[in-house]
Amino acid sequence: MMEQYIREAESVLLHTYNRYPVVFDHGEGVHLYDIEGKKYLDFVSGIGVFALGYKNEAYNDALKAQIDKILHTSNYYYNMPAIQAARELCRVSGMDRVFFTNSGAEAVEGALKAARKHAYLKDGKADHEIIALNHSFHGRTFGALSVTGTPKYREAFGPMIGNIKFADMNDLQSVKSQITEKTCAIIMETIQGEGGIHPATEEFLKGVRALCDENGLLLILDEIQCGMGRSGYMFAWQEYGVKPDIMTVAKAVGCGVPVGAFLMTEEVGQSSLVAGDHGTTYGGNPFATAAVCEVLRQFEERNIPDHVKEVGEYLFEKLEEIKAADNRITAHRGKGLIQGLEFNAPVAPVIQKSLDNGLVLINAGSNIIRFLPPLVITKEDVDEMLVILKEALKAEI
Ligand SMILES: *Cc1c(COP(=O)(O)O)cnc(C)c1O
Repeated sequence: MMEQYIREAESVLLHTYNRYPVVFDHGEGVHLYDIEGKKYLDFVSGIGVFALGYKNEAYNDALKAQIDKILHTSNYYYNMPAIQAARELCRVSGMDRVFFTNSGAEAVEGALKAARKHAYLKDGKADHEIIALNHSFHGRTFGALSVTGTPKYREAFGPMIGNIKFADMNDLQSVKSQITEKTCAIIMETIQGEGGIHPATEEFLKGVRALCDENGLLLILDEIQCGMGRSGYMFAWQEYGVKPDIMTVAKAVGCGVPVGAFLMTEEVGQSSLVAGDHGTTYGGNPFATAAVCEVLRQFEERNIPDHVKEVGEYLFEKLEEIKAADNRITAHRGKGLIQGLEFNAPVAPVIQKSLDNGLVLINAGSNIIRFLPPLVITKEDVDEMLVILKEALKAEI
């Protein structure tokens, strides 16, 4: 049955993904079920989206209630869920101003526009440079793609937006060497996700903040994957007390409803985008922001960051043991519930074998298995995952 649907999918969907051969039907807690009823333990959560687990009753009820009230108005009017979601996002992040988007890439687009406008208002020039990092991932639209540090994603689509320079993660000197009098901002993920789970060191992040302060640059932190509790902190930069000028969020901020946002300090808010500079039809509509409100409510009620710290440390210890016992594993990185095991060969056979045995895992680059479970996962779930992973590691790679 499943094969037939997959064949049909491949005849109607544009082939922009090499999909795993499974058609998911529904979820419950940290488990997914395919259309044939087979159960899977989910260690991907839709790439860090479904943080609070599937079939979350309070979340579903909040959305149903909002559907019965109103789904959409327009950004030319105010709506209550957007006001509350913005207030709560500011409260948990310490940022001051929010612009809601429909996706992560759009949040990055807005952040880049705000940074360039901020610089434009200072010197009246429109030739400002932005520094991004190698191996970064910021999304697939032109602005976001232009600051994405993986050349193969950009290659066929040139020219990119101009005046972007690249430096290396955790190499302050390489960032410093790219700064010119035209530089207006540095954009980076606090923990690189797609690029292979590379956390910024405390020294590097503090160094980049200092470079920004010394040179009058804005620091844009992309927290789309590593934010919303995933690192064991609400936002990964909070571990080091280094505050960005602009921050992007998406993925888990809606837990399944497509929504993102870029946030900024009052200083940037007062001196960047104004009426007419930026907009969106759907962004911040009452349905999407009702989801954000309920997500933030549950994060607080369930103290998600502390839970992630505890289970994340347990996962870290266990993956260290796996690494010590397998000489194909060359590195183990990450924190909280964003971790990766790097192998000396492509990991697709291990992921496929896991899937066969009821465990959903994903790669980050061809040689890295990425662990990005729902944030409500327990130590018992980690143990269940390890049994299947160990079996799958018998696969030849
Ligand atoms: C997923 C991701 C994006 C892009 O988000 P979309 O919603 O897919 O546009 C941007 N930055 C980071 C760090 C991401 O992980």
